[in-house]
Amino acid sequence: MIQSSAPSDPTLVPQDIPVSFGPGDRVAVLLPLPVEGAYDYLVPEGVSVAVGDLVEVPLGRRFDVGVVWGAGDGGIDPAKLKEVVHRLDLPCLPKALLSFIDWVADYTVQPRGVVLRMTLRSSRGLKPQVSETHLIQAKDLPPKLKLTDARRKVLDTLGERTFVGAGLLAKTAGVSASVVKGLVDAGAIDTVLAAPPPMFSPPDPDHPGVVLEPDQISAADDLVGAVDQGFSVSLLEGVTGSGKTEVYFEPIAAALKMKRQILVLVPEISLTTQWLDRFRNRFGVDPAVWHSDVTGKVRRETWRAVATGEASVVVGARSALFLPFTNLGLIVVDEEHDGGFKQEDGVIYHARDMAVVRAREGGIPIILASATPSLESLLNAQAGRYRHVRLESRVGGAVMPEVTLVNMVRTPPEKGEWGRSWLAPPLVEAVNETLAAGEQALLFLNRRGYAPLTLCSTCGHRLHCPSCTAWLVEHRVAKRLQCHHCGFVAPRPEVCPSCGKAESFVPCGPGIERVAEEAAARWPKARVVAVASDTLERPSAMAALVDAVGRHQIDIIVGTQVLAKGHHFPGLTLVGVVDADLGLSSWDLRAGERTHQLLSQVSGRAGRARKRGRVYLQTHDPNHPVLQALKVADADAFLEAETDGRQGLGMPPFGRLVAVILSGTKEDAVRQAGQQLARAVPAAPDIEVLGPAPAFMALLRGRHRHRFLVKGPRNRLLQPFIRAWLGSVKLPSSVRIQVDVDPYSFY
Ligand code: ADP
Ligand code: ZN
Repeated sequence: MIQSSAPSDPTLVPQDIPVSFGPGDRVAVLLPLPVEGAYDYLVPEGVSVAVGDLVEVPLGRRFDVGVVWGAGDGGIDPAKLKEVVHRLDLPCLPKALLSFIDWVADYTVQPRGVVLRMTLRSSRGLKPQVSETHLIQAKDLPPKLKLTDARRKVLDTLGERTFVGAGLLAKTAGVSASVVKGLVDAGAIDTVLAAPPPMFSPPDPDHPGVVLEPDQISAADDLVGAVDQGFSVSLLEGVTGSGKTEVYFEPIAAALKMKRQILVLVPEISLTTQWLDRFRNRFGVDPAVWHSDVTGKVRRETWRAVATGEASVVVGARSALFLPFTNLGLIVVDEEHDGGFKQEDGVIYHARDMAVVRAREGGIPIILASATPSLESLLNAQAGRYRHVRLESRVGGAVMPEVTLVNMVRTPPEKGEWGRSWLAPPLVEAVNETLAAGEQALLFLNRRGYAPLTLCSTCGHRLHCPSCTAWLVEHRVAKRLQCHHCGFVAPRPEVCPSCGKAESFVPCGPGIERVAEEAAARWPKARVVAVASDTLERPSAMAALVDAVGRHQIDIIVGTQVLAKGHHFPGLTLVGVVDADLGLSSWDLRAGERTHQLLSQVSGRAGRARKRGRVYLQTHDPNHPVLQALKVADADAFLEAETDGRQGLGMPPFGRLVAVILSGTKEDAVRQAGQQLARAVPAAPDIEVLGPAPAFMALLRGRHRHRFLVKGPRNRLLQPFIRAWLGSVKLPSSVRIQVDVDPYSFY
């Protein structure tokens, strides 16, 4: 893993001395294209550029913006070289960012230009910053000025103030714009050009926030102490509700005082209004925000504000890691264990691991925060490569919830008049008690829709997606069938396409809509809501829901993992996990770890205020080590077992994996490409190549998929082997190869 190969000794920030080039010099310009190398250009008269500068250059018949990567190599006849058009009016990218891009390209086995594209993409269409005309009163009124009533109104309105544009001033004064113009012409009003007001106000590190508790203070001090010490990795581990966010705000404040920029990476869905409220409460202003919903002009201007240093704190999803910070001083990765940090298409990378590399290249500290850290990070902490900062207790003396395992074999759900039931008697009883006490319950099930499978009760035909190896999921509220992999939607057919029988389809198994239906039938007086990513399409819907739950306008929430993270509901005292086995049966390397993390996070939603919470886990396998560990709240025992298991098999982080995925619309071509690659595997005694084999999802979005899994020892990087192997074979262009280093998904 990358994390472990990062050196642990702090190095100080290298002084950035840009290397400059003048007219007649050759420079190598890397373009955001799928190419490995940089192209040479000549610097024209009157222009000077430095390494890291953004420049516009001709490329074929068009122009593109690239980055000066270094000196040109001199191989090409200067007469044939084209000239740089001009240098963009933006600060040059720091050396740490350039070497980071090089490193990511090497590690992920991608052309450098493709990685650079992740940095430059959002600068496309960035217009030069234009100054605006501001109107201010002239120092002295011209002696011969004719003062009409209208003119007097304008001068009175203007007073000591500044107006942007004549229209606004005229409107405020209640006169026509020609009056203002007349005063400007007469010299009674001066115009000045000024930059537009800043988009982001500077956060105030001394703004008073919550008063930290003693163990929070010592954790915060520990982290603050590392802020000016160069590169280091700190793992901030603390149970849910221990106040990790408030704690890592302190090193952020320290970095702000040093006039450095700060990046906070969060999984996309946990960037909540609650988090932003807390930030505002601590620093007085909003941070810059970066995620897929930030689009258009706001996205471009945010990009510029990061480049110019105007945005000092950025909170964002994984792609924020590639923003052009010129003065980055601290990175925080919140919920560092979260699978959402793994980007699964395009450049496949893990944002947490790459964030550690970005910190190392920049010679700055990084904090990884989680209630349930990844095995990788925990082992790094145990080995002393990471500093380990722990918060042992919940804020305000709240205690951890009590966990009960509900044996679904011994106490199965009882059928009700609404049909099948998914809630077993012990959980039903717990909900009764919770409602009677005027408290709230969360029923957790990580399955969207009404039922995961719909089949014909006459012939057994299952409705599946035409483009994926997947069943169609019925969404009753939206009245349709949906593929959760490609987005295919269809109305529910009237008759079975296989046997022609009408009204023969039956739902199999529960999704949250079906559990919500049961809850509404069982507790008719309770206010029930079903919540999943597809019911919360906009961030504002999430905010409204969080607000409604907080005000106790909802009694029972039936929800997927969108609610498992980051939210704090004081009245929520019961969490029922409808199917704790879901995910455990998978053969995925991290199934156990992931289930443990997810269920711990969900459990952490219960009883965060004064009352002790209760958690009920419904399972068919109560002796499973993951569930036993959750019951006794002994994460260490679980991790020890998990560590032993992986070590025995040489699996990450004790070994390295790279997945190679071939895909195409023609299955034959994909299979043949697999065989061709199989014959070309270079000899390497310590590297094992498994496959090719059809992927678990043999068809995905209409593409057939075959996979290889390459396995090697921990002390050997597999990338040179992969490059040599893939470079030795010419595959038809209809077959796409994806390289997934350190894979997290195995389907
Ligand atoms: P975690 O991320 O560890 O689960 P949070 O940082 O989300 O914890 O904090 C949980 C809740 O407790 C938040 O509402 C937070 O504002 C509050 N909180 C944290 N520390 C304190 C404190 N010292 N005093 C009062 N409230 C606090
Ligand atoms: Zn599909």
